[in-house]
Amino acid sequence: MIDLRSDTVTKPTPEMLQYILKAEVGDDVYKEDPTVNELERRMTELFEMDEALFFPSGSMANQAAIKLHTQPGEQLICHNYSHVFNYEGGGVSFNSGVSCKLIDGDRGMITASSVEAAINPPDFYHSPLTSLVCVENTTNKGGGACYEFSELEKIKSVCDNHGLKYHLDGARLMNALVAKNEDPTRYGLLFDTISVCFSKGLGAPLGTVLIGKKEVMQNAIRVRKVLGGGMRQIGYMAAAGLYALDNNIERLAEDHQRALEIALVLKGLAYIKDVETTETNIVIFQLEDDIKDEKFINDLAAQHIKISDMGQGKLRMVTHLDYTQEMHETLLEILDDYSK
Ligand SMILES: *Cc1c(COP(=O)(O)O)cnc(C)c1O
Repeated sequence: MIDLRSDTVTKPTPEMLQYILKAEVGDDVYKEDPTVNELERRMTELFEMDEALFFPSGSMANQAAIKLHTQPGEQLICHNYSHVFNYEGGGVSFNSGVSCKLIDGDRGMITASSVEAAINPPDFYHSPLTSLVCVENTTNKGGGACYEFSELEKIKSVCDNHGLKYHLDGARLMNALVAKNEDPTRYGLLFDTISVCFSKGLGAPLGTVLIGKKEVMQNAIRVRKVLGGGMRQIGYMAAAGLYALDNNIERLAEDHQRALEIALVLKGLAYIKDVETTETNIVIFQLEDDIKDEKFINDLAAQHIKISDMGQGKLRMVTHLDYTQEMHETLLEILDDYSK
């Protein structure tokens, strides 16, 4: 099976499993798990931020961040495609009593000027008070797009000028850092909080670390407990994260290269209408009108290839650690030979 639905489908390698088995663990709710503590320390060091906290999922880490930055009734600004709005089960309203002001922008990215225009005037008490801006890097529904760092800096100035907090949903931040050859400490300086997932391209079974400034993170452990995310001997999973930090970051470049090759092949095929710009490990494309998405997905499935339907005529393939060169060559041949 060649599974390109998501980079979350990876299974731990034998080496990662060996590393997991050797982990020293303790009760992390008492903060006595040395492996979790080590992963959190490594993340604060990497981003030069004050504190870090290990969460079971990216959604929970984002939701905790939103809770930490807002009060009920307030509003956050994010892209119309954003994960916090579309794929976290309505948690923004459920957990924090907050609404989202949605803005558009190229491939899931927002700009400083659109953020500025979306802020409600704080003295106009009829409107919700704007208190937070959330950005995603890389973007998920936007097809793995990476921000220009200068735009993130401009958005930060807008946040500062209006007293807004600034959260980065960095589920795939490592992909962006590798693709753009950027220094994580620059991100640490810019944001109030950043979530980074280990369960995507980094190949761990679970885990997201939320890193942030001390003032915010002081309450993070309580919010995590409220959300049900206090875990006990979870050092086994933090070990997978440590293993990934040491072994699986640079190799993301291979995923990016293969995604680019898939995009290039798709572009040359008569049955493909459009392929979005491919910067990292996500390829989003559309079929010509005379082929039904469902038929194409089923035809590929019959050849042991799984891809995702993003809706609105968009299909998605995501490359990852378990997608080998051999699978890649098979996929490219099958795409090339495909005829409805
Ligand atoms: C995957 C993802 C998350 C977190 O998802 P979980 O399944 O809850 O770990 C958050 N944001 C983005 C952009 C993602 O792609």
